[in-house]
Amino acid sequence: MSWQNNMKGLKRISEKPNDMVLMDLPEPRLPGDDWLKVKVSYAGICGSDIKMFHMDCSAPDSKLRPPVIPGHEFSGIVWEKGSAVHHVEVGDRVVCHTMVKPCGRCEYCLTGNWGLCRERKGIGSDINGAFAEFLVCPAKNAIKIPEELPLDTAALTEPLACSVRIVEEIGKIRRGEKAVIFGPGPIGACCAMTVRANGAVPVIVGTKHSRHRMEVLQDNGIQCFINDEKLPKNILDYFGGYADMAVDAVGKEAVFQSTFHVVKKLGRIVVGAIDESSTGYSVNMTKVFGSQIKVLPSCSSTPKGWHEALNLLSEHQDEFKKFISGSYPLEQWDRAFQKAESRDGFKIMLRP
Ligand SMILES: [Zn+2]
Ligand SMILES: [Zn+2]
Repeated sequence: MSWQNNMKGLKRISEKPNDMVLMDLPEPRLPGDDWLKVKVSYAGICGSDIKMFHMDCSAPDSKLRPPVIPGHEFSGIVWEKGSAVHHVEVGDRVVCHTMVKPCGRCEYCLTGNWGLCRERKGIGSDINGAFAEFLVCPAKNAIKIPEELPLDTAALTEPLACSVRIVEEIGKIRRGEKAVIFGPGPIGACCAMTVRANGAVPVIVGTKHSRHRMEVLQDNGIQCFINDEKLPKNILDYFGGYADMAVDAVGKEAVFQSTFHVVKKLGRIVVGAIDESSTGYSVNMTKVFGSQIKVLPSCSSTPKGWHEALNLLSEHQDEFKKFISGSYPLEQWDRAFQKAESRDGFKIMLRP
């Protein structure tokens, strides 16, 4: 066996809650000639990373499969490539989508819905992710970062691609439409930017605890309201009618129920996040049927959405940069996680 370097990695070592340790690990090797080794530059901490951190992962349907290095929102530099890789070179700056080993044969794979394939694996959940100095991923997942886009902003590609799916691919936003987005976190903020890039008008709805975030959003020219009893009236006054589309970017049943108060007849409600601890939301089918409201789930992202997200980030990078509230070296991962969990900022990143 040839000599192998060590790297720092933040590893979930067991299924027990919070059992994550920063440790010296062997650098990963390319598992095939069509894979890349990437030096991670920035890795965003996702809400799902925090949820998983605290969760017992012994359940058979657990999304995290310890022992594993989490982290799925990243940018980096190609460090090594297999002999069959031609579309990127060593030294290229890349982002990589996280769907690995879809079977390619099932009806979901054949219709581009890889996220629903039973066999697919995820970087940062089933196989080692970006909370480490290096990771390996299939080369076909890598997309070059446009020259003008900095590496930190590029690490927002994954959450923005999820928002592109919510707003465009599932929500089918059209020019001139009006959209109310519940949840002023990173996904909600990215949804609002995507709505506006489509020539539609976004409003963000938060609570009085999200004032910091709303100030940043308002600084980007996005109208914000508090979710209280005055909300439907505020929406009516601001838009001159109810919204064509409402998005739940929080994942709480109470928020989902609020979306019905702001959406017009024939409108769409896109459920972009779900409370997984809930045993099931109740839906007022009389209202859904009578007002012909469409309730549409949106999960994960598509490769097409990743390309679009990179273009959006390049075009509006000054505005997106405001959604990065801090970055910490890997050694300070616990501080970074606390900061991300406090929700007083937007995206917190690690710098492995
Ligand atoms: Zn994420
Ligand atoms: Zn499949």
